Amino acid sequence: MLHTSYIEIDRKALAQNFRFIRDRLGPQVKISSVVKGNAYGHGIETFVPLAEMCGIDHFAVFNTDEAFRIKTIRSENSEIMIMGMIDTPEIKWAIRNDIEFYVFDPARLESAIENAKRLNKKAKVHIELETGMNRTGFDKKSLQLVKNIVSSNLEYLELTGVCTHYAGAESISNYVRVKGQIRKYSTMLREFLNDGLVPKYRHTACSAASMRYPQTVMDMARIGILQYGFWPNRETFIDYLAGREDKSDPLQRVISWKSKIMATKEIKTGEFIGYGTTFLAHKDMRVATIPVGYSHGYSRSLSNLGRVLVHGTRVIVVGVVNMNMMTIDITDVPDAKAGDEVVLIGHQGEFDISVASFSEMSDQLNYEALTRLPAETPRVIVG
Ligand SMILES: *Cc1c(COP(=O)(O)O)cnc(C)c1O
Repeated sequence: MLHTSYIEIDRKALAQNFRFIRDRLGPQVKISSVVKGNAYGHGIETFVPLAEMCGIDHFAVFNTDEAFRIKTIRSENSEIMIMGMIDTPEIKWAIRNDIEFYVFDPARLESAIENAKRLNKKAKVHIELETGMNRTGFDKKSLQLVKNIVSSNLEYLELTGVCTHYAGAESISNYVRVKGQIRKYSTMLREFLNDGLVPKYRHTACSAASMRYPQTVMDMARIGILQYGFWPNRETFIDYLAGREDKSDPLQRVISWKSKIMATKEIKTGEFIGYGTTFLAHKDMRVATIPVGYSHGYSRSLSNLGRVLVHGTRVIVVGVVNMNMMTIDITDVPDAKAGDEVVLIGHQGEFDISVASFSEMSDQLNYEALTRLPAETPRVIVG
């Protein structure tokens, strides 16, 4: 093993998740597979071809670099959509390569037109509307101007989308705000339609919105976290289960993260383990070092807290997580030795370490813990 840990990507689990999502959205809706953040840590280059095998042919990213990475590995008929940052010099590249991109200010719209004219090729734009997130998007005031510009440049623009994003559809505490956004979108969209500007895709839903507000799905849904087998938060899963007889989780985790024991050591009662004095051996102990630390994406906040699996037993991280290593208590696993498998995320024997168990600190932590997994850790396809 050249690297100190590796990540497994489960093809069968992914196929199951897409079956669930497809079933839920119906056959007509375009699924845009959201693969920003290195496909939520799963690895863009590994994930995109697997998603294509499940029938996915539209991928959403945040920026140009991610679009570039997909372009080199996707199959020819897959589309790419940049939802966030694209710098003016790259707009030409995007148009030339049929990359769709969000437009949320007049300057970007003008730049798209200008480059499209020069290339004699339409720019595929998604007009993003400000409906209450207050991040990016055209607001009501600028709508007339945008419609005028689009209408008079239809030779150079394909209106691929009219879209918006909800400010927290996963939580009922945002209900009023999200409902307001749904109304605003619908009003603003009507203004486009009234002028004969009909987008190819009306799209507003992320994973949470597609589950909790089905009316937000329209022609396309931008699905991130669900495809990887996670609920946006616990509340969304509970909401899904409500009134259902079958209480099992239809989603399956796609990712596992594994390493090996590097060395073992006997520790006497009263000794401290690792840097400083955060862990005092309260008994004679056996510990093992694992060559994974915070530089590999294992958070330092899991010092003296994290759990991993060895020989099908759940054991605890003792002492602080270092940059490249951590120490675990294997007193109760007498056979454990150097070279044995350690599961950081995933299944072993009867036990399971979930990504959520990385910390109880935040509902959103799935997203954060996943995207912190370094790109250089090898991804291996299983299943
Ligand atoms: C990340 C993102 C999504 C996907 O969100 P999930 O909660 O992972 O489904 C959808 N739309 C936009 C604009 C995003 O940035």
